[in-house]
Amino acid sequence: MGNIEMGPIRPPSESNSLLIRVTRGCHWNKCYFCGLYKSMRFSMRPIEDIISDIEAQSAQHTGQSFKSCFLQDGDALVLKTDYLLKILDALHHYFPTLESVTTYARADSITRKSLSELKVLREHGLNHLYCGMETGSDRVLQLINKGFDSNTVIQSGCLAKEADMILSEFILLGIGGKEFSEENARKTADALNIIQPDFIRVHAVGFKPESMMWQLIQDGTISLQSEEEIVREQRLFLQCLKEMNSYYVNEHIVNLLLEVRGDLLSEKSQMLSAINRFLNLPPEERLLFAIGRRFNMFFFLEDLQKPNLRSQAQLYMDEIKKKNPNMDFAFLCNYIRQSQI
Ligand code: SF4
Repeated sequence: MGNIEMGPIRPPSESNSLLIRVTRGCHWNKCYFCGLYKSMRFSMRPIEDIISDIEAQSAQHTGQSFKSCFLQDGDALVLKTDYLLKILDALHHYFPTLESVTTYARADSITRKSLSELKVLREHGLNHLYCGMETGSDRVLQLINKGFDSNTVIQSGCLAKEADMILSEFILLGIGGKEFSEENARKTADALNIIQPDFIRVHAVGFKPESMMWQLIQDGTISLQSEEEIVREQRLFLQCLKEMNSYYVNEHIVNLLLEVRGDLLSEKSQMLSAINRFLNLPPEERLLFAIGRRFNMFFFLEDLQKPNLRSQAQLYMDEIKKKNPNMDFAFLCNYIRQSQI
């Protein structure tokens, strides 16, 4: 039995899951904002290696009962259905307590499968797909070189739901810069109102200096938004979302307002109130909160009222302004966000 192979990432919500690597890297690997697998050549792992890893992990975790398993890396749904079924069957053989098997899935990989294939995968235990739709705007999808359009996003989401899978859609707030901010909010909400995924997982974008998106900022195609502008985009996005049976999640450290999460059916107004509480603060307080969040002193808005944390954040702010009185805070906050991804 060889060494168990692990991929580099998993969704934050899969922190307790068994991880099984079925592909290496991403077969698309061309999104302009994404550097996750840039240095990696895509390949499908041989089935016997995957099964050997499953067996080895089962021996390694004797006595530990996993409830969920995440299939790495970037898009396991690119694998042929028969191939996936063999993996799923081996997983359930070695880990009989598994209740869910999850994976990242590109929208176009989902639409390349038929509804009956998706249903068979669901019956064999693959029951949760994490899809990076990022946006529902065709112009932004093109801008970021996502490789599919909003029709594919909607079709794929509806197919996954029809196959009775749990569906998480990842959204990138701020990805279109100031220029596409309103369109990003409105069109993304329009697409999600049709799909009605189980989870809407929002991430504030962090543009990496080595990415193609950064070049688009440098050549003036789009401009960086401040933390406040991204929150305004989020407010419009949330306002445009229907009150539907979806859970809205701010779970990643890159997001400014972690308290904005809840059931869209019953908690939309509370989520909007939390956003408004931030936006109604005086400008200096908004900036102080953003700096405190970015340097991990604050986690929630109420932390702004805690004297110790507040004075720490103020100290950082004073130091930054002393060193650079003309500091571009949109730039600084983006720099920190991109380092956290
Ligand atoms: S965002 Fe997803 S699909 Fe795009 S390159 Fe990265 S891993 Fe691949």
